Amino acid sequence: MAENHADFIVLGAGPGGYACAFRAADLGRKVVLVDPRATLGGVCLNEGCIPSKALLHAAEIIREARHGGDWGISTGKLSVDLGALRTRKNGIVAQLTDGLTGLARRRKVQTIRGTARFTGAGTLDIDGEGWSFDQAVIAVGSSPVQLPGWPKDDRIWDSTDALDLREAPKRLAIVGGGIIGLEMATVYSALGSQVTVIEFMEQIAPGADAEAVTILRAVLEAEGITIHTGTKVTGVKGSKAALTLTCEGGFAGDIKADAAIQAVGRRANGHVVDPQVAGVDVDDHGIIAVDETCRTGVDGIFAIGDVTGNPMLAHRATHQGHVAAEIASGHAAALDTDLIPSVAYTSPELAWAGLTQAQAKERGIAHKVASFPWAASGRNLSSGGGDGLTKLVYCPETHRVLGATLVGRNAGELLAECVLGMEMGASLKDIALTVHAHPTLSETVAFTAERALGTLTDL
Ligand code: NAD
Repeated sequence: MAENHADFIVLGAGPGGYACAFRAADLGRKVVLVDPRATLGGVCLNEGCIPSKALLHAAEIIREARHGGDWGISTGKLSVDLGALRTRKNGIVAQLTDGLTGLARRRKVQTIRGTARFTGAGTLDIDGEGWSFDQAVIAVGSSPVQLPGWPKDDRIWDSTDALDLREAPKRLAIVGGGIIGLEMATVYSALGSQVTVIEFMEQIAPGADAEAVTILRAVLEAEGITIHTGTKVTGVKGSKAALTLTCEGGFAGDIKADAAIQAVGRRANGHVVDPQVAGVDVDDHGIIAVDETCRTGVDGIFAIGDVTGNPMLAHRATHQGHVAAEIASGHAAALDTDLIPSVAYTSPELAWAGLTQAQAKERGIAHKVASFPWAASGRNLSSGGGDGLTKLVYCPETHRVLGATLVGRNAGELLAECVLGMEMGASLKDIALTVHAHPTLSETVAFTAERALGTLTDL
């Protein structure tokens, strides 16, 4: 017999899990939220999105200071106190995780620090204590993929180690040119490391628009980052003096480094809660498949966030969390996963949502594209911005916007207008005839729409 009973229990307190728990509590449910960590917020708050953004902000300050001379501003010799930076970053994380604890308390969500596992249909074990539940949500996230055959070595980091900011190594190799690899390259290059990014595919940020990625790559290389695409790391050896990464493909040879980051993707954590014991299927990749209502196929058990597969993004998890809480509480809800925005918070930022030009072509979807180069944006130039691009993919018949990509300063913020437009079925005219304030970077979205319509006067 289970000693404890939960009306609604959420396993995992990341952006998916806590959002789900809080929404369910707001809907009048009696909620239990379980996570092995000492603080709420999961990977995103504790060792992912938030600390990385704090370090990326520091990288931006360093870059701005280095380029101050272009504006007649000199600040003397630049120095970075890694200890102080780490303290600042950790302070931001603590402020947010403490905030979550307060939000949970005010909603009377019972938080348990522990590791949960299913023991049957409707029952769980949490650190040796038996629980029964009416409804459960699996929100146990993902973990960094470890490359097989790599030796155990303190100089080999995953993204969590990289965000610990132990040191700025003289030579840093980053395996994987996805979002994590590129964000860490941006941080460590600003901190003074000689960074080499090794990407297996022919393009960094695979999946993003090729034209926009070319602009990003050129800026990263101009900042001194070496990028090898179409290149596979086949082996790693550690000697006292250095790590040696052996590569083949686009770059064939050895790369010596003082530290290496593995940023080759994340793996869903489905197996850690033994969901199959409760009848929930989990595949070989640790993924629990769900429908648009986050149902697993087993009555009363839902799954949300990274554990449900790609795209493994916090904002998708949060929305799924709300959907699961609402469906479980008898409301109508669903999440359409076609319009999940992606942002690499590099310098410059790269942001996209909906269809890219290549995807529209591959899928045989009738489309046209229009773009606006940021070299013609007064706001971009007057804020020290370099090359940038706004690009829209649209339907030639209805002029509905099907996809958007932006590369440049604040691209991640600017993307929201495009996502809202796509959600609401906006046409090029809707965007072009919306008065955008001048001078703003947001004008580049309207200019792109005007260009497609042939009404642009700014080029
Ligand atoms: P990713 O899948 O985005 O990128 C991994 C990259 O590594 C891929 O481009 C892949 O081709 C490459 N790769 C794989 N094996 C390789 C090998 N042996 N040698 C060289 N390259 C290899 O994964 P990630 O960057 O590790 O990020 C993990 C997840 O976290 C992603 O889902 C990502 O979207 C998410 N994330 C998002 C943000 C954000 O939204 N800003 C930030 C960090 C992470």
